[in-house]
Amino acid sequence: MATDATGAATDALRRHQPWQADAALGGPPPRVSFEFFPPKTDKMAETLWRAVERLAPLEPRFVSVTYGAGGSTRERTHATIARLKRETALEPAAHLTCVGASQAEVDAVARAYWDLGVRHIVALRGDPPEDAEAYEPAPDGYRYAADLVAGLRRVADFDISVAAYPEVHPEAASAVADLDNLKRKIDAGASRAITQFFFAPETFLRFRDRVAAAGIRAPLVPGILPVTNFATVQRFAAMCGAAVPDWMSRLFDGLDDDPQTRQLIAASTAIELCQSLRAEGVSQLHFYTLNRAELTLAICHSLGIRPAAEAPAA
Ligand SMILES: Cc1cc2nc3c(=O)[nH]c(=O)nc-3n(C[C@H](O)[C@H](O)[C@H](O)COP(=O)(O)OP(=O)(O)OC[C@H]3O[C@@H](n4cnc5c(N)ncnc54)[C@H](O)[C@@H]3O)c2cc1C
Repeated sequence: MATDATGAATDALRRHQPWQADAALGGPPPRVSFEFFPPKTDKMAETLWRAVERLAPLEPRFVSVTYGAGGSTRERTHATIARLKRETALEPAAHLTCVGASQAEVDAVARAYWDLGVRHIVALRGDPPEDAEAYEPAPDGYRYAADLVAGLRRVADFDISVAAYPEVHPEAASAVADLDNLKRKIDAGASRAITQFFFAPETFLRFRDRVAAAGIRAPLVPGILPVTNFATVQRFAAMCGAAVPDWMSRLFDGLDDDPQTRQLIAASTAIELCQSLRAEGVSQLHFYTLNRAELTLAICHSLGIRPAAEAPAA
């Protein structure tokens, strides 16, 4: 693009790419954390550990491992966390849910994590197993995530993260009731909230305002889902009440059989989202990696996050 003597064209270009102007201003890149799920097969395990190996040099604040719906991955989550602890320098955070277990059983799982040296739990109510119609607390179980947070505080001095919903949890009585619930989780002893994924920056920013107005002071960390497969994302989004904007459907339209182009569109969409959040002062991001490194690496690179420098040779 030609630039006139006053540099107006350059200014116009910057206005369209606010992150470049922002990056030029400097400032530290955001801190990041990465979420993985426990692998079911040897092949999936290979994919996961390759992703961990590629993402580890970015020195995430922590890496978390999910707990399957209905508590179905208790052993696999534990094994993945144990391996992260044993073989990497990363800080693992174990997801733990209330589903399908008594309080004593959940406490025992938490105590086993503590004994392994795990200090961070992502405490959730959890989703019911796929064949169940609705969530039912287990007999003698923790009913809601706030009860689990209080229980974990009694087990040990864990660092606890909880979930938050910019577009309101689908089962909540109202947006206000859902915010009250978030406050109860923080008041019970959680130190940060990680959000459900969303695609428009203003969805997060409006929610951040409401969280602050409700007097919740704990950090609110946006959960970022890079779109590997648009059809799957639409299904996830419908289940958890996240809106898929029309502009996004149009962007991915016609790319179902073109993974390479889809990957490029996915990267540019997520980069734009993260840069917009950064420009609004967001300093922490949590990535739902789906056990893939490529998109998360590209987004982190665009945010100025680089592999830690190798120690100079002695
Ligand atoms: C960052 C993140 C990570 C996740 N990881 C997992 C995972 O590993 N495994 C998994 O199975 N799921 C996971 N989930 C999904 C989560 O388990 C579901 O969204 C679940 O339906 C709600 O969990 P919660 O911890 O938010 O529940 P809660 O905070 O307990 O809230 C659940 C619902 O109950 C309502 N509620 C809470 N307390 C009360 C009350 N006293 N009276 C009436 N209503 C109440 C809330 O408003 C909300 O609608 C994750 C979600 C996020 C955002």
